[in-house]
Amino acid sequence: MKHVILAFGILITVSFCACAQKENPKMDFEKYNPVSTLKVPEHIVTKAKFPFIDVHNHQWNVPRQDIKELYQQMDELNLQVMVNLSGKAYKSTPGKVNGDFDVQGNSYLVNSINKVTATGSKRMVFFTNLSFVGFGEPGWTERAVKELEKDVQSGACGLKIYKDLGMEFKDEKGQYIKIDDPRLDAIWSKCGELHIPVLIHTADPKPFWDAEDENNERWLEIATHPNRKRSNTNPAPWQTLIDDQHHLFSKHPNTIFIAAHFGWYANDLTTLGHLLDTLPNVYVEFGAVIAELGRQPKAAKTFFTTYQNRILFGKDSWVPSEYSTYFRVLETEDEYFPYHKKYHAFWRMYGIGLPDDILKKVYYKNALNIIPGLDKTMFPD
Ligand SMILES: [Zn+2]
Repeated sequence: MKHVILAFGILITVSFCACAQKENPKMDFEKYNPVSTLKVPEHIVTKAKFPFIDVHNHQWNVPRQDIKELYQQMDELNLQVMVNLSGKAYKSTPGKVNGDFDVQGNSYLVNSINKVTATGSKRMVFFTNLSFVGFGEPGWTERAVKELEKDVQSGACGLKIYKDLGMEFKDEKGQYIKIDDPRLDAIWSKCGELHIPVLIHTADPKPFWDAEDENNERWLEIATHPNRKRSNTNPAPWQTLIDDQHHLFSKHPNTIFIAAHFGWYANDLTTLGHLLDTLPNVYVEFGAVIAELGRQPKAAKTFFTTYQNRILFGKDSWVPSEYSTYFRVLETEDEYFPYHKKYHAFWRMYGIGLPDDILKKVYYKNALNIIPGLDKTMFPD
C-alpha cells in the first residue's frame, strides 16, 4: 500500500501490490530446491584419501558378475576391500536364487568365494546369512549352528542379520521372532567362538513409526515409499526392537556385534555413546546415515574422536557416485553442501575434517581388527 498525495491535497490509497490479486505461488516441498548463493571453498572428493574397507555392501549375483569391472570401479574410489553381506543372496528363504544357483547346498556362497579367489586378490569378502525357515521346530538351532560352522570353514568371515529379524520372520506359532529370542543364543555364542563379527540391522529410522505429518523429518521418504511406514503394532514399537537388540548385545559379551546404520542413533550421539561405553563388544558403521553426521559436524567430530576404535566405514547400497558424499563429510571442512537424496536429508551438510590417524582407523584399521582373514598387506601402516 502506498499513500499518494495528489496536487489537490486529497489523500488516496493506491494498491501497488499486484501480486495480491495473483494466486499464492505455492510449490511442492519435493520441487523446491533453491540453488545456494553461498560462495565458499569446495573440495569434491571422488577418491578416499586412504584405501578403505566398506563393511556394509551388497552384491547379489557374484558367480555371474564381472569381477574385473567391479575392481575397476572400486579402484576409482580407493575401495580396497568390499564386505559383501549377502553371502547367500537371500534374506530368509533358501532355494533357487538368481537363476541357477541352488543355495540350499551352500553352493552359491562357495561359488562366489571361488570366483573371487580366482582373481588372485581377495578384494571381496563374504558374510554369511541365516535361513529362518522352520524356526522353532525341533532341531532348527542345531542345524543353523552347523551350517554357520560350515560356511565359516568355506571362507565366510562374518554373519549378517537383516532387519527382517524382529520385523518379518515368524516362529512355528506365527509370532514375530524377537531379536533376543533365546533360541538364537547358540548362534551368537558360536560366532564368538569362531571369532567372527555379527553385523546386525535392526528396525529402521524412528520417524517411520511417528505420525506422517508436517513434523516428521522423514515425511518425504514415507510419502514416496509408503511401505516403509510402521506403527507400534506393525510389528512392534521402535524402542522395543532397539531395546531387544541392546539386550542381545549385553547377553553375549564375547561376541562382536556391528550395529548397522549407527544403530539408528546417528541423530542422538550422546545415547549412542552411552551404549558404546556400556557394551565394549559393540561397533557401529554409518551406512545411509552420513547426512545425520554432516548436520552436526562438531558433535560428530567429538564422537569420532572419543570412539575412534569402534567406528567402521559402511555405505550399504552400491552406487559408486554416492561415495564422494561420505568422503567429503569425513575428510573435508567444507560448508553447506548437499546430500544426494532429498528424502534422507533435505538439509545441507558440513565436513567433519577428521585427522589422518582417525581416518585410517575408520577407513580400514578397525575393520582389520575385527574381521578375520583380511589381507593387512593391502593397507598402509
Ligand atoms: Zn544393507
